[in-house]
Amino acid sequence: MSQTNYVQLEKLGEGTYATVFKGRSRTTNEIVALKEINLDAEEGTPSTAIREISLMKELKHVNIVRLHDVIHTETKLILIFEFCEQDLKKYMDQHGDRGALDPATVRSFMFQLLKGTNFCHENQVLHRDLKPQNLLINRKGELKLGDFGLARAFGVPVNTFSNEVVTLWYRAPDVLLGSRTYSTSIDVWSCGCIFAEMISGVPLFRGKDTQDQLLHILRILGTPSEQLLHKMMKDSPEITFKPLPRYPRADMSLQLPKASPAALDLLERLLKFDPAERISAVDALSHPYFTETANDMPYGMNIPPGSMPPPNFNFPHPNRHQQQQRTQPPQQQYSIPPPMFAQQGHMHPQAHAHMTQAQMQAMQQQVQQQNMYNGVPYQQQQQYGGR
Ligand code: ADP
Ligand code: MG
Repeated sequence: MSQTNYVQLEKLGEGTYATVFKGRSRTTNEIVALKEINLDAEEGTPSTAIREISLMKELKHVNIVRLHDVIHTETKLILIFEFCEQDLKKYMDQHGDRGALDPATVRSFMFQLLKGTNFCHENQVLHRDLKPQNLLINRKGELKLGDFGLARAFGVPVNTFSNEVVTLWYRAPDVLLGSRTYSTSIDVWSCGCIFAEMISGVPLFRGKDTQDQLLHILRILGTPSEQLLHKMMKDSPEITFKPLPRYPRADMSLQLPKASPAALDLLERLLKFDPAERISAVDALSHPYFTETANDMPYGMNIPPGSMPPPNFNFPHPNRHQQQQRTQPPQQQYSIPPPMFAQQGHMHPQAHAHMTQAQMQAMQQQVQQQNMYNGVPYQQQQQYGGR
């Protein structure tokens, strides 16, 4: 596959180590995203790119941006990804009410974010840099995890983890405190921060540096016990903090007056200061927030005309879900190949992950509804929900 197989179109974005362009395949006319990474002649292929390629090639899920191809030239590395219209940051800026999304869109995006995150975790992959700029939204309203540049396989020695991961505002307190034993819970924290931001339109914790970031968190969650703080700091004696003030816990509903009680309950579980207490992505997916409130309206019909593209209806409606569980025969288990890291000898005991029956069902439902939103064909939805 040569570089000339793609026509480079306009620039889509610039990130921490790459420039992303829109592109078109000369052979199939398919629109793609070309992520160009300049190669330093001295240093060769950056480790971030190698990680991204090896992890993403194996992670195939509707909520993870698909890596189609890799082109390696002397001067650059080009990753060919499926194209998405925009990232969540731009989406919130353009479609939100001063950044805030309507409750139905928040719920759909949150469900998809947790699905993608859970899929990573099931496959022993940590994303480590979840933030709105790294989440992509396509025209169908599908949200996809992108930018696996900082991701890595876990289940391998944890003490080699650097604590310079995850953008500051979405960084978990355990990472801020220097913990090196962190795991999937760091992505869950980021999901919580993104959840709050979609509801309110503004990032929840906007610290200027590590200490300031921690203070922002403590002012809302309250200062935890000395004992817990010590436990979380013991891995990195070299990191020191000025004495931390003792703050009481603030009322989260004052921060997020628009959030429903169910949304606030889920948010609280995602944003537990102690990583051991943080809910897992898979448990978050079955939180009542995703099922209870779906009863109170014909789904998606509460979107004001012309203001929002419809998010995909792809989380379980409580009734439909139960019905499927009753009537469908047991599903075959589908095996997912372990990520490359695991193949290279760091095999995690559970690297051969299997999809659960519920996940297969959700995915099948997704395929069935690919061009449908709550039973309404996409074209028709455009009339009241299109951009
Ligand atoms: P970096 O690792 O440099 O941060 P990203 O993969 O996050 O690179 O890409 C930078 C920006 O490019 C994203 O924030 C997004 O706006 C845009 N972008 C990335 N991938 C795609 C894609 N598949 N489709 C559309 N836009 C994309
Ligand atoms: Mg990025």
